[in-house]
Amino acid sequence: MKTGISITAWYKFTPLEEGTLSSLQKELQTFGKAKRMRGLVLLAEEGVNGTVCGLASAIQEWKQLMQKHFGEIVFKDSFAEEYVFPRWFVKVRPEVVALKNTDIRPSEEHHHLSPEEWHDALEEDVVVLDTRNDYETEIGMFAKAVDLEMQSFKDFPWAVQKAEIPKDKKVLLYCTGGIRCEKALLEMEKQGYTNVYQLQGGILAYLRKFPHQKFDGECFVFDHRVSVDQELRPSQKYKLCPHCGDPGNCAVSCLRCGRDRIICTECHKKTHLQTCSKDCTYHLQRRSDANFSIQKH
Ligand SMILES: [Zn+2]
Ligand SMILES: [Zn+2]
Repeated sequence: MKTGISITAWYKFTPLEEGTLSSLQKELQTFGKAKRMRGLVLLAEEGVNGTVCGLASAIQEWKQLMQKHFGEIVFKDSFAEEYVFPRWFVKVRPEVVALKNTDIRPSEEHHHLSPEEWHDALEEDVVVLDTRNDYETEIGMFAKAVDLEMQSFKDFPWAVQKAEIPKDKKVLLYCTGGIRCEKALLEMEKQGYTNVYQLQGGILAYLRKFPHQKFDGECFVFDHRVSVDQELRPSQKYKLCPHCGDPGNCAVSCLRCGRDRIICTECHKKTHLQTCSKDCTYHLQRRSDANFSIQKH
């Protein structure tokens, strides 16, 4: 495996004093800048969450710094040939993963299954819920999973109610790296579910141990790679659609300028979006306004 740039993702729920957040932000901002790192780190009173990239030596030092501040952490590593983020940010937010509910505050690892335990548990009589958004589930899911078809994680409480799963049913939750499930699980317990477990380290941890097994497709990630394949390599298949930002793999020659581009399946269904960019769509529509007003009806 070529290892030009190391990427690591992690989170830790641990109470941070409001007063210390801005000095911590400054320290991390300065450290990452000096080490020429790129990525996004979120700090909140509930803890820390981030994905960052850089040279292997910088990432090594970064991990030590994180553990010095936040204690033991499980890092999910992958690699790319180039930087996968354009810039370096450390931000303070109300939550490190937004369920829009600061009452739900995970503290310790709760009902976690290791990738091995998860792999076995999938064989049991269980309901498997994907807690990610629809543009993520579209390109890869566990074979047995129910897609809650959420556009945002904030929809989770409502999506669970709608799913009408018996309260004592064994439920398995997963997401990309585990952080969303920490909150999803507590939300389910709040709703009265008594038998809920989550995949520790998420899909990224599962694929490291079990490539080409019970997870189908690719795993969406929130950076330039768009997604990673079964061996955690940057996707060769998907690009972000220039029209809607979702991952896509439909090749088009722009109907206005002729440039080749990858767009998503949904946008591909609409003739005026079979272009390389929003700009070309705008001009294409102006050029043939009459035709498109007929198509709309
Ligand atoms: Zn699209
Ligand atoms: Zn074009």
